Amino acid sequence: MSVNLSLISLSGDKAQQGFTTSILHCDRQKPIEHGSLHKPIHDSVAFEYNTAEDLAAVFQGRQRGFAYGRQGNPTVSALEDKITLMEQGVGSVCFATGMAAISATMFTLLRAGDHLISSSFLFGNTDSLFKTLRQLGVDVTFVDVTDVGNVIAARTEKTKAVFVETIANPCTQVTDLKSIGDYCEREELLYIVDNTLTTPFLFQPNRVKAGLIINSLTKYVGGHGNVLGGSVTESGIFDWSTYPNIYDQYKSGDVNNWGLLQIRKKGLRDTGATLSANSAHLLSVGAETLALRMSRTCDSAQAIASYFESHRSVKKVFYPGVRNHPDHNRAKQLFSHFGSLLSIELGDEVDCFSFLNALKLVVISSNLGDNRTLAIPVAHTIYYEMGPERRASMGISDGMIRFSVGIEDVDDLITDFEQALHNSS
Ligand SMILES: *Cc1c(COP(=O)(O)O)cnc(C)c1O
Repeated sequence: MSVNLSLISLSGDKAQQGFTTSILHCDRQKPIEHGSLHKPIHDSVAFEYNTAEDLAAVFQGRQRGFAYGRQGNPTVSALEDKITLMEQGVGSVCFATGMAAISATMFTLLRAGDHLISSSFLFGNTDSLFKTLRQLGVDVTFVDVTDVGNVIAARTEKTKAVFVETIANPCTQVTDLKSIGDYCEREELLYIVDNTLTTPFLFQPNRVKAGLIINSLTKYVGGHGNVLGGSVTESGIFDWSTYPNIYDQYKSGDVNNWGLLQIRKKGLRDTGATLSANSAHLLSVGAETLALRMSRTCDSAQAIASYFESHRSVKKVFYPGVRNHPDHNRAKQLFSHFGSLLSIELGDEVDCFSFLNALKLVVISSNLGDNRTLAIPVAHTIYYEMGPERRASMGISDGMIRFSVGIEDVDDLITDFEQALHNSS
């Protein structure tokens, strides 16, 4: 497994710096007030200009600057630079949540009559959003994205975009990312990759030719479970001149940036789902330790997966790092680590509620990407609304438990699992 962690600095010259080094010193690449090491929290809604001409130039995109807080803010802008650097893209726009980033992207770039191809193992809330898109006249087909053949079969003359996630939650299927990217490039389809589960530390979707990259910053980038946020990054790969849904007023500047310009201008305006300066600050601080936290949680998840695999009360382990996972080799080729989300199916003799209630250290909670290890009975909570049929088609059994592995000492976690399994079977 190898991953190229050398990053291109924002000033454009090639800096052979590692992932963490470049993020830590990202703010300093632009002058910061008073020599502050962090970009300060600017929570002013409005910004003053010396002349009316200057303000007009900012509105018309001829001059960089901020006009009104909904459309951007210096603290949020510093975070956007950091995300762009992590994803090695050409620009990013942040939103109040990951769902806001996805909603704004889809509402901005799709129109009634268009067709979208996505995954049948999609994150539940994104699945819900795409069903809303159907009500608005966008046709959506959900397919098994572990095989590009299903994407090709679903394609129609109306297809505009393909939206996938890297690793599915909770069953951890790994998308056929490279083949789908090659197909989208050949067919000039917009390829959108949600990188939340892998984060730019494990995987950069521009390597499989993604045009737009989504991250829920709420999860691993923030990392501390204390702030919501989302982002969309333009990789610079997609040729927007081939894309019919760009309004004339956004066909200005670099053609590889038109999509993001439209998302910034229309997406932020229409949804109003702006990230606050305070949230951007918390996310920026969190991002500094992304690599440290991810290395540790991925190693722990691997150890916990091995522990569960050898336990007689555990029927099945879902984790791309285990050798008999159907997509293990693909994950090994694409990602620097296998992620820190894993699920298990308990044996019939163990009641999943008794097991969860017996945990002393691991927290019963629905988030993921927190520093603390969290567990949830998926069929009874986040996938409850979907109904038993859809759950069965997604491979989600009633006894399935999902874990988001945190940064605790792994021996303490395994001790907790051991006593809970012992006391509930
Ligand atoms: C959580 C999540 C989202 C949504 O992010 P929020 O910040 O919770 O709105 C989108 N995609 C994936 C894969 C997620 O896990």
